[in-house]
Amino acid sequence: MSSFSKSGIYRLDSNNSNNHIIYFIDPVRILNRSYTRFQVSPFKYYSRFLKPKHEQGQTRDSENLNKKNRKKRKFHRLNERELVADQRHQEARSLLLNAHEVLLRDKEILSVLCNLRDDDDVCCLSGTKDGPCFIEHGSVWQAPMYEICLHFCTDDGGSALVQFDQQQVVPLYNNLIINDTSEDVEAATLDNCYIIPRESCFHMSNLEQLHALVPDKPDTGFNLIVIDPPWENRSAHQKSVYPTVPNRYFLSLPISQLTHTQGSLVALWVTNREKLRRFVEKELFPTWGVSYKAVVYWLKVKVDGSLISELDLFHHRPYECLLLGYRHGKGMDSEPLTTKSLPENQVIISVPGDYSRKPPIGGILNLHFSVVRELLLDYAPGPKPARCIELFARELLAGCTSWGNEPLHFQHSRYFLSD
Ligand code: SAM
Repeated sequence: MSSFSKSGIYRLDSNNSNNHIIYFIDPVRILNRSYTRFQVSPFKYYSRFLKPKHEQGQTRDSENLNKKNRKKRKFHRLNERELVADQRHQEARSLLLNAHEVLLRDKEILSVLCNLRDDDDVCCLSGTKDGPCFIEHGSVWQAPMYEICLHFCTDDGGSALVQFDQQQVVPLYNNLIINDTSEDVEAATLDNCYIIPRESCFHMSNLEQLHALVPDKPDTGFNLIVIDPPWENRSAHQKSVYPTVPNRYFLSLPISQLTHTQGSLVALWVTNREKLRRFVEKELFPTWGVSYKAVVYWLKVKVDGSLISELDLFHHRPYECLLLGYRHGKGMDSEPLTTKSLPENQVIISVPGDYSRKPPIGGILNLHFSVVRELLLDYAPGPKPARCIELFARELLAGCTSWGNEPLHFQHSRYFLSD
């Protein structure tokens, strides 16, 4: 438990003969390992599931309406594709039920869950106002003129003596912006303040500019590539949270060029739609030269430990899948070598953050927390620590390059606690 409070990762005792690996994770604790001076606000991260006290116990009319609609939908006859999806679900079902039961038996973790919110955690750095929309600003003709001012500042551990205090003003878009110091950096752009974690970098640009991240030398490529594409789906479209992209565009993502000479572990988030799973298995992975290896299930729970929706609800499963595969490096004609082989059927349990936000399981340079590396980093081929890139990112992590059209989204100071 003491290691969990620092690492945010807790291995639950699966207690069955199949030896499935089940983790409970607290994304806020994991993210906080990326920061030296700032702290992510649990209240902001979990805002969908932590209602203010006066709203607790109340159910909104719209929620009730949705529940009714879902109940109606449950009884429709499944078409051929849905039957295959259902078959897939049945295969995962007992594993997920077991993982959930294991969680509910663990009193310590249940008490962590109901205390995720710190009572004093109401005061964020700069109020509740949304930041600017990077997607919109990035698409106007003025985009090349927008700048970001990074304030590098290192003190000598509390005394008034500042050792290093420097500002750097650089273009905001289509530019690789790096914080290679071991301290967080505050940055100002478009009249808002952002927190850039230690040893992180980002490139805010559109799909057409992704090639800018292809390394000049293949041995500076990436060993871990985490991808969360803006898949076309009704939910993202209806909520218009971000633009989506037709599947065929992802075929030309430069996965082989981004891969390190010694190969990469590719981790791809997918939705539960069967059409998409088929596309990934039959077209996308083969086109990228990725050989499929394993699936990680992300099971989503509320702060009382219950699932966010019924396990068998067809269109609203309480889980998502992360597909893992290996891509060999240039000049290699077989699969990359790794010291550990990927376990089949891992389950990661957590309380979800904002819409479509995934738990942070990529980078984070912090080698003394070995349990963290168990999630993905340990399975990446090539030199250690693995070089990590996240594609279509909305946040930054220490030890990782984040790319997308809004990688600063969750770096806004409103998502952080003030001292
Ligand atoms: N992994 C993210 C998280 O945990 O918050 C969510 C990623 S979301 C599924 C997909 C992201 O891709 C959105 O931020 C969206 O704005 C971005 N995106 C959409 N179209 C894009 C494009 N043409 N180029 C770059 N990024 C794009």
